[in-house]
Amino acid sequence: MRLHRPGERLIAELRDRPVPQPGQVLLRVRACGVCRTDLHVIDGELPDPRLPIVPGHEIVGEVVACGEGAHWPIGARIGVPWLGYTCGRCRYCTSGRENLCDAARFTGYQLDGGYAEHAVADARYCFELPRELDDAHVAPLLCAGLIGYRSLRMAGEAGRLGIYGFGAAAHIVAQVARWRGQKVYAFTRPGDTAAQRFAAEFGAHWTGDSDHQPPEPLDAAIIFAPVGALVPLALQALRKGGVLVCGGIHMSDIPGLPYALLWGERVIRSVANLTRQDALEFLELAPRVPVQTHVETFPLAQANDALGRLRAGRLQGAAVLLP
Ligand SMILES: [Zn+2]
Ligand SMILES: [Zn+2]
Repeated sequence: MRLHRPGERLIAELRDRPVPQPGQVLLRVRACGVCRTDLHVIDGELPDPRLPIVPGHEIVGEVVACGEGAHWPIGARIGVPWLGYTCGRCRYCTSGRENLCDAARFTGYQLDGGYAEHAVADARYCFELPRELDDAHVAPLLCAGLIGYRSLRMAGEAGRLGIYGFGAAAHIVAQVARWRGQKVYAFTRPGDTAAQRFAAEFGAHWTGDSDHQPPEPLDAAIIFAPVGALVPLALQALRKGGVLVCGGIHMSDIPGLPYALLWGERVIRSVANLTRQDALEFLELAPRVPVQTHVETFPLAQANDALGRLRAGRLQGAAVLLP
């Protein structure tokens, strides 16, 4: 399923099976998660996608062949996340921040992704997956889980953690936070009682509308919804010294706000991409929690429908495509 021009639907195409180049693995795709970032690529909200492109960066695949120098066992089930390549030499790569690499390439954005029957990936950026979850249920760990986990880490030791937008990432993060002894305050679109029930089911201590303030001040908050207007609302909910993490790759403009909301050493920061270290840590941690995922599966050919449902906010948990 390929994107030719932003703003258009994906087109189903029959193509030759890719041949793994040196350092690459060829995977038979068993499942691929649908992430909000795919929507941002398809809707033209991110700069310079390589076109045409096969979206999808939560790939669960079975190793079919290895190019020269790639060493995954044939038949192994592995995962391919958003981070597909880094240079290994720039100031970020050499200081443990390869997520910020100047020359990074991303799966489903500059590298063909997993909305396909087969995919190739750089073997160094693939990961073993927890055996406890089946193909569809493990797929959302690869972005919603990994970026969610990095966001949670950046939020620090927050006893009371707010989460704005309760989709795929939030329903995973809430489970890890609760396991760590944190109380989760889940904020959803005003009046979205179904999402609030869903949040409670996945461990939220309190649920409410995003334009309401929580009953107690929060130590930290994460915004997963791509809505800049949530920034002043979330800042208002923080105690002094609290941290606000913007976890999405794209957000509408943040409105002007009184300095008093930031005063008191409150911090606003973004989280960009992931490092391979994040992936190793989180994929090891997930089965210990144990993280469960709520998924809705679609045949690969219905990728446009799955994306439409996500765009309309008519999904609970994560959508996953099955070739
Ligand atoms: Zn680099
Ligand atoms: Zn993603």
